[in-house]
Amino acid sequence: MCRTTTALLLSGGLDSAVLLAHLLGQKHRVQPLFVRCGLIWEEAELAATQRLLKALDSHNLLPLIVLEQPVADLYGPHWSLTGRGVPGADTPDEAMYLPGRNLLLLTKAALWCQLHGVQRLALGVLGPNPFADASQAFFDALQRAVQLAGGAPLELLRPFGNLTKDQVLKLADGVPLELTFSCADPQQGLHCGRCNKCHERREVFRRLGRKDPTVYAHSPS
Ligand SMILES: [Zn+2]
Repeated sequence: MCRTTTALLLSGGLDSAVLLAHLLGQKHRVQPLFVRCGLIWEEAELAATQRLLKALDSHNLLPLIVLEQPVADLYGPHWSLTGRGVPGADTPDEAMYLPGRNLLLLTKAALWCQLHGVQRLALGVLGPNPFADASQAFFDALQRAVQLAGGAPLELLRPFGNLTKDQVLKLADGVPLELTFSCADPQQGLHCGRCNKCHERREVFRRLGRKDPTVYAHSPS
């Protein structure tokens, strides 16, 4: 039985929800972390994360820690802060790029782990992720950098890093995906129904053969 504490960066979305359930199923003690950067969808994501943690209630689940990593001074008028020009359903995943996303998330979370005696930190990136900062090479380099910085030992993990979305979905049995949130342009707390992420979400439920219980503010355009 594995009882080492593993910190997990949660987004309230589908992949990190499945990874959370997967780690708990493997008897990890899980420290959930949420990093708030000031992006337009985060309050909805945080609410979903809290719903998910409540639903998966387990003695191996530690209380959620919320970290602050504001990016307004870096991103300026970027769509992730203004909601103007959010990539639509017909855009490639590359359109969803956020500069330095995993570098910012992992650096903040890694330092928190080192200061709190947690030696493993996981992120739910998948194999087909097109961005360099989701790669094994990046994780290895950052792990080395964090250790060179002089803190405690820390392992950066991407447990789903060799899996496709469909392979991850096969692990989703029993995971309350209806509680997750994955929209880049929330409309009063609802999924917008028109963005890149909403399109992906619809496809997930369709491929799973599960009824999509999501309330979308708009039909697909
Ligand atoms: Zn959306």
